[in-house]
Amino acid sequence: MKLSESDIRTILRAADDIIGQGGRSLLAKILKGSREKKVLQYELDQCPAYGCFHSAKLQDVIDKIDWMIDYDFLDIEYSGKLPMVVFTERGWQIESDQRADELLSEWNQWVAEGRQSPDMGYLKDRNRQMILLFIEKVRETQDRKYISYLQEWEKIDYKKVRAEIRATIKALEANDPINQEVVQKRKESIKEALEGSAPQDLLLKCWECGKRFTFTVGEQHFYKQKGFVHPKRCEECRDRRYG
Ligand SMILES: [Zn+2]
Repeated sequence: MKLSESDIRTILRAADDIIGQGGRSLLAKILKGSREKKVLQYELDQCPAYGCFHSAKLQDVIDKIDWMIDYDFLDIEYSGKLPMVVFTERGWQIESDQRADELLSEWNQWVAEGRQSPDMGYLKDRNRQMILLFIEKVRETQDRKYISYLQEWEKIDYKKVRAEIRATIKALEANDPINQEVVQKRKESIKEALEGSAPQDLLLKCWECGKRFTFTVGEQHFYKQKGFVHPKRCEECRDRRYG
């Protein structure tokens, strides 16, 4: 199985709304468009990825999520006894980029609707890296229509973000050229990230006897699902210890 770019993006978008707070089955329910209480209670039906896989079987959706885990887009981490979905570095790189695009298209819509001085509070306390990327993307449009929103936003955000907003307003006013190389590099980097990383057998060294042992793809899959770290000992040492 290999997921399409669109499937990968959809799953990452859905995961973003429950990251560190929900597991694989909740993620599958969002994608499936479930009307279950928990989904509605947390307003997960508002997620743009809600119901995107409504015609697929639940098990097929879970298989897609597991593929995302195997290919290094998502990971499982335990919060107490509960296995939670988290982003890998690769997954977050893609998601933060598309999330910034989502914010920009929202502004576009507002501009088109002629919406004046919206409350910018929703942008505060968001992931800083994503927010700075969003500001960068606003600047890259070289479009002055966003200046009034930036001015509203500048009033309420923290110092570091304010400084970036200010610089962006100036750049838009002055019609500063943008660095195409940076834009191109970012696009290429996202494209590369979307390839994922196919799981491979790993050769690990046993802590106890020092022998090399193979940590197979299948075992890795199992360990990841369980949120376990890599085994420290070879099978023989493990058997001796726990068997
Ligand atoms: Zn050993």
